[in-house]
Amino acid sequence: MSRKQDLLSLMNIDISWMKNISHDEVSHTSFEDLELNSRYCDKCSLSETRNNVVFGKGSKDAKILIIGEAPGKDEDQSGEPFVGRAGKLLNEILFSMKLTRDKVYITNTVKCRPPENRNPNSDEIQSCSGFLDSQIDSISPKIIILLGKVAAESIMNTTETMASLRGKVHYYKDTKIPMLVFYHPAYLLRSPSEKRKVWDDILLMRTITDGC
Ligand code: SF4
Repeated sequence: MSRKQDLLSLMNIDISWMKNISHDEVSHTSFEDLELNSRYCDKCSLSETRNNVVFGKGSKDAKILIIGEAPGKDEDQSGEPFVGRAGKLLNEILFSMKLTRDKVYITNTVKCRPPENRNPNSDEIQSCSGFLDSQIDSISPKIIILLGKVAAESIMNTTETMASLRGKVHYYKDTKIPMLVFYHPAYLLRSPSEKRKVWDDILLMRTITDGC
């Protein structure tokens, strides 16, 4: 056990995830411990360049879990997901759904910023998947919304295009939790003509959430 792990253990902070234990065992860790643990995580090289771990934010009882790809520069500085221009647009999309941030939970596939805002690679996504799996277990959302191709590819293990992934109901792993794929707000800022398609996505989401 490393010196850091020794210290965390002495503080009664759960360190089981550091020892690559099974997902079932990790799921017994409380949400707060998990978030605290993430601050010390060095399971992948993104730990070397991050300023802050961006674990996620919102209601732990949320019916809607929103997953983006990775923190960017503003998120790395603030420690919060989806701030800056893309975050503002996400707020507007949530408003269209009659929602606010405190009613949903927002996170990313990896919790630390990839340098130069590159896409996270498969090793980094795999290293961080224990945190995301545990967040999903703990929140137990009624629906998951994946923002953009990177989130969809990594969680659904697919190489299908956004055009074929959008507008369909998918399911999270072997559960009955429905998942929808939306355009990433950063993409919508670059391609404003696509914004109108978000309304179709919201209508599809409502057909699922209205029954929740
Ligand atoms: S991205 Fe995830 S696995 Fe990698 S250092 Fe950050 S918290 Fe740990």
